[in-house]
Order: sequence, then C-alpha cells, then structure tokens
Amino acid sequence: MRTHILYTGGTLGMVSTPDGLAPGADLTGWLNQLLSGTELAGTFDILSFEHLIDSANATPDDWRRIVDDLWQYRDDADSFIVLHGTDTLAYTSAALSYALTGFGKPVVVTGAQYSLGVVGTDAAPNVTGALRAATSGRVNGVAVFFGHKLLRGNRVTKVSSWAFNGFDSPAVPVLARTGAPWQWVDNESTGCGWLDPAPYQRHDVLVVDVSPGISARRLRAAFDPLPEAVILRSFGVGNIPSDEPGLVDAILDVISAGTPVVVASQCMHADVQLGKYQSSHALTEGGAISAHDMTLEALYAKLIFLLSQGIRGEQLGRWIETDIAGEINV
Ligand code: ASP
Repeated sequence: MRTHILYTGGTLGMVSTPDGLAPGADLTGWLNQLLSGTELAGTFDILSFEHLIDSANATPDDWRRIVDDLWQYRDDADSFIVLHGTDTLAYTSAALSYALTGFGKPVVVTGAQYSLGVVGTDAAPNVTGALRAATSGRVNGVAVFFGHKLLRGNRVTKVSSWAFNGFDSPAVPVLARTGAPWQWVDNESTGCGWLDPAPYQRHDVLVVDVSPGISARRLRAAFDPLPEAVILRSFGVGNIPSDEPGLVDAILDVISAGTPVVVASQCMHADVQLGKYQSSHALTEGGAISAHDMTLEALYAKLIFLLSQGIRGEQLGRWIETDIAGEINV
C-alpha cells in the first residue's frame, strides 16, 4: 500500500521568520522520523508545491494544480494525502470533491493549527490520522481528517482559528472518530459525479452578507460590475431585509441581467427554504436559487466548478441544486 503525499503549504510546515510564520520546515525529515519503526515507514512519497503557500493565498489555480498532481501520480499510489493550510482548506477539499468524482482512490486533506516543530503540535496526530484514514480501505472520495475526526470533504467548515478540533461538518455526521479502535459511521457516498471535468479557472463570484440596515445603494455598488454569480448570505432560512426601499429590486435586477443569485444562510446549521417567510418571497418569484444545506465553502467551490465547465444561466441553477459529490441534501 503506497501513499502519495502532496504538501501545498500552511502552518503545518511553517517556521517563524522576522515577518511571521512562513513555509520552510523539513517536512520529509520530520515525517520519516515520525513514522520510523511503524508499519507505515517507507510507504509514502512526499511532493511539495514548488511555491508553498499560506492557504489564504490559494485560488482556483491552486485547486487545479492539486488536481493535476493527484492525477499525475494516480497510478503510482493507492491513497493520497493533501497537506494544506487550514484557512481555506474547506474550499479546497470541496473543490477537489467535484473535480475528482472519477478518481477512484481515497484522498484525505489535512493541516494543523501548530507547526510541526512546536511541542504539543497537532501536526503529528493530524498527519498520522490522515494516513490511517487514507489507508483504511473505508474512504470514498475526498475526506478531511482534523482534530481526531474524519469528515466529508465537501461538508466541512473551519469552526475555530485556534482549537485542535478546528473543523466540523454541521449538516452531516462525521465519517469516523479516532480511538482504539476508530469508530466508523456508515455513510453512503452520494452524488451523480462528473465525467471528465474541465480544469478549474478563476471566475468572478461575489459573496455578500446582508446585515441589519444594509441599503440598496450599498448592495447595488457591490453588484457593479456585474459578477458571474452571486452568493447572498441571508438570515436564517433565507430571509433578507425586504422592507428596505429598493433592496429587493437591486437583487432582482441582477437576476434579470443574467447573473444567478444563490441564497445561502449565515447560520452554521442551515437549511434554506425560500418563500417560507414573506421576507424571501420576492426572491423565489424572481428566480433566486436555494443553497439548501450547503456550506459556503462547498457552494463557492461548486459555482467555480460549474462556471469552469462552461455552465451558465438556468442550467447553472439546476446544477447548483443537484448533488454532484454528496455536498447537498435537497
Ligand atoms: N494561514 C495558515 C494557512 O491557512 C493557517 C493554517 O494553516 O492553519 O495556510
């Protein structure tokens, strides 16, 4: 059983510099030492991004680089691990899940809150946990291992900037919890998959939060120039301040101009139900799309994925509400 490990950057392999934490640790030496004398010694290869990044700088171009690397080494390994910064890890893992529905081998993404050289770091349990998960024979598709939990790659969100238990999947149960032995939760993978996807490209997707007192003028300014798609993070089950003069019209004008508006929720546990309240009625009538229970990260990556496939207009709305890789429960 061989594992291919791709290191993209992130705190896990960072060292202190006068300008703050930056990539530079000897990851290969550390991992060899960590696993020496265990059953996993010598079973993995490590490849690093030529330009290691803080994941705050990750873009869809990096998602494409990761996908390309995994495909390049697909036949050389049985399982795959992506080491990634935690800041945008949930976006990347969701993006990988759409692009790799035909990959056929497990991919586990992980990172750490502390660098590998810090006493008491979570880098060691996270990387060894990811290795265990990836080689377990029980992971389908893309998963995230973090803080003693294995989670679905397109259901995760970063819930803490400091806790070792930094990720959660609010809408679905965990895939497994560590322990002796690990506790696995049977979890059928769903989704229709995507045959031969085109590579990720950057697209202009606007994410905007409504807030109490937001004006139509502010919103119109955010919509100019017109983005390719809008994620409108609303209150509760999809409600907006509909009494605010001109606000609903500002949104409906965007839809009329051909830009899809997907209504998501600011709630961690979200289930968008457009039209349940009068304050979202006009959005349903005007053709807004529901994000249902998708996380922001899964929704954003899905829009970029669909736009990269050349999907536009009404078709985009249909695909947003279709389960591609287990990211949505409609
Ligand atoms: N800024 C870092 C990154 O996302 C944070 C981390 O890895 O925990 O790359």
